[in-house]
Amino acid sequence: MSGNEQRYIDEAFADNWVVPLGPNVDAFEKDLQAFMSKDDPSRSHIRIAAVSSGTAAIHLGLVLAGVRAGDEVMCQSFTFAASANPVTYQGATPVFVDSEPQSWNMDPELLDTAIADRVAKTGRKPRAIIPVHLYGMPAKMAEIMEVARRWDIPVVEDAAEALGSRYKGHACGTFGTYGALSFNGNKMITTSGGGALVCPDDESLARAVFFATQAREAFPYYQHEHIGYNYRMSNICAGIGRGQMTVLDDHIAHHRKLAALYATLLSDVDGIEFHGNPDNSSDANFWLSTITINPELTGGLTPDRMRLHFESLNVETRLLWKPMHMQPVFKDAPAYTNGISSRLFSRGLCLPSGPWVTAEDVEMIAGEIRKLAAGKL
Ligand SMILES: *Cc1c(COP(=O)(O)O)cnc(C)c1O
Repeated sequence: MSGNEQRYIDEAFADNWVVPLGPNVDAFEKDLQAFMSKDDPSRSHIRIAAVSSGTAAIHLGLVLAGVRAGDEVMCQSFTFAASANPVTYQGATPVFVDSEPQSWNMDPELLDTAIADRVAKTGRKPRAIIPVHLYGMPAKMAEIMEVARRWDIPVVEDAAEALGSRYKGHACGTFGTYGALSFNGNKMITTSGGGALVCPDDESLARAVFFATQAREAFPYYQHEHIGYNYRMSNICAGIGRGQMTVLDDHIAHHRKLAALYATLLSDVDGIEFHGNPDNSSDANFWLSTITINPELTGGLTPDRMRLHFESLNVETRLLWKPMHMQPVFKDAPAYTNGISSRLFSRGLCLPSGPWVTAEDVEMIAGEIRKLAAGKL
């Protein structure tokens, strides 16, 4: 917390704006809009709808993209379940697409092949595409958008982990037809729970707010012609968000500093690879710092062995996301795989990356990794 959050919450109570709309919601949306289009006139058109979660934002994006029961939606397999779950809320089927090895995100060529195959098999185009910027590392959005444009399929860009990441100079979350942000407790900034839908213009923003507030038509009585949702952000949560916006740049700088330190300290460790920006098109926020372990160069060291060692030191590390095409709940969903995400899952680990992690912590952690990789523990 920055210390400013309480002031905005107190204002909301003083003015009795204890509802899912109000001055904090409006101001938080303005702040986010300014942040996402900062120094980038090509993004001046974007508009923000603050909602109750990142999952709600993805769901709204799919609703606005016209996803309906029986449709198929192309979704990155290597992600958190919240990218794919909203597809099923619409009664649609996710079709999973594997990753390329540079960014670990949706492989644009495999996406293209997969769409062609879906059209051949079902006679219909998938209704939307969901790429993800996993761990804050930008997906190859130029290539993905080129495929999407060629097939004329809307993109719902999952930027839940990528607030502050840039790709080719533009903010992640502003490439797709719609973008989704998350302010859950573990993300780059938090509103306790919350999210935002990045919209391309005023009209789609109005549409997003309409569906997020139970799809009430403009009548003096309650008239409903569509199914709506109760997805708007609370004015209290938005007050936290406004306070968090004052430290967002600091948070991002901290995550990037930790990542640079991990990268330097691990650069000469055989069998350990830090997951850094593949080239200068990508400017990750390094929401989480991640590594992969080559078992052949480390005497068969597994991520889980490393995790358990750190657990014994009271340091929490986590395995990478388990790909959606390997999840029991999605066992019947079509999947286009190339072995990349399953391999990352078996070799990768997330390292401590949060606001309280210090340079000394990183030095200690890197030292332990060095010993583990050399078979000295
Ligand atoms: C956190 C997250 C979400 C969902 O956001 P919530 O605000 O927790 O609903 C979606 N996708 C990814 C990749 C995430 O990490």
